Amino acid sequence: MSKLILPGLIDPHVHLRDPGQTQKEDFYTGTCAALAGGFTTILDMPNNKIPIATSAKLDEKIKIAKEKIVCDVGFYFGSLGDNLNEFPKVINKVAGLKLYLSLTTGGFIIDKNKLEQVFKVWQKISITPSLDSAGVLSYFEKPILVHAEDKMLDIVIKLAKKLGNKVHVCHISIIEDLKQIINAKEKGLKITCGVTPHHLFLAEHDVKRLGPFGKMKPPLQSKKDQEFLWKNLKYIDVIESDHAPHTIEEKRGKVPPFGVPGLETTLPLLLTAVSEKRLNIKDIIRLCHTNPAKIFNIKTDPETKIEIDPNSSFIIHNSSLFTKCGWSPFNGWKIKGRVKRVFIRGKKVFENGKILAKKGSGKVIRGI
Ligand SMILES: [Zn+2]
Repeated sequence: MSKLILPGLIDPHVHLRDPGQTQKEDFYTGTCAALAGGFTTILDMPNNKIPIATSAKLDEKIKIAKEKIVCDVGFYFGSLGDNLNEFPKVINKVAGLKLYLSLTTGGFIIDKNKLEQVFKVWQKISITPSLDSAGVLSYFEKPILVHAEDKMLDIVIKLAKKLGNKVHVCHISIIEDLKQIINAKEKGLKITCGVTPHHLFLAEHDVKRLGPFGKMKPPLQSKKDQEFLWKNLKYIDVIESDHAPHTIEEKRGKVPPFGVPGLETTLPLLLTAVSEKRLNIKDIIRLCHTNPAKIFNIKTDPETKIEIDPNSSFIIHNSSLFTKCGWSPFNGWKIKGRVKRVFIRGKKVFENGKILAKKGSGKVIRGI
């Protein structure tokens, strides 16, 4: 067995569905899936059944999480532009603000006329002092995350240019959007972006085969779009799974919801791509550890690490997944690269397919 040690990975974009839709996933099953996939820190989105848009709702969510999580979890706050007075109450408890400008699960979309005010208020209160490892004081601005495609992305970039906000654009999937981001970066705007593994490894021709299990927002795109993402990996800041589980019954229903799970397959897919020389291990560390830690100000620990066997091949089976939804769009794929052990702050929490961590042993980042 060959062995490779990587730092514990960070996924800044997951939907664990708890509270409100725990038939799809909950904090325990979702964080078990994270550990099995080599992720020791994840950041959870606010579009729960009742969106996390008040301080009370956030506190309730954190309380539930504390009882169940087996890895470290941080949270985002949501806004439709009508809860600005809640921002100061939650600022020390969240990793960032999430705004939906394009369609997603729950129809939680902000009115674009309210956007400027949200950007201004968030910026004013979100710049917080932070001590680095050498004890040097610096100021950190918590990002606004946007789900914004096409014209909506245009609006966001214009606003970021005008106000100077720190913005992270989630799940870029098409040439035009990435071109806009590259352009904004070259102009010196504080803009970062992420791509999902499904947009890197699946394309629109896969939808025929996958049916509702290949439907997500943004949708799978053309081969050309996919190639453009791979070719411009250096402009991409993070890989985010957008782990968005739904039950098999829901997916097979009359109106299948959008979203696919991803926490357990991201790293094996990337390691397979390393074996095919499409990227290297340093890219994985940059995209799944160093950059997310930097963008979201996550303190890392040298004893939080994962051990992988890059040469171990296996087939992804729905039946062996920890996610409660019990399926993956990559079911049946032959993969090279397996997570063997996971350590959090020196404690072994996962080994050879088994979760060793106790329920509730994970840490809430910036918790109450
Ligand atoms: Zn998402």
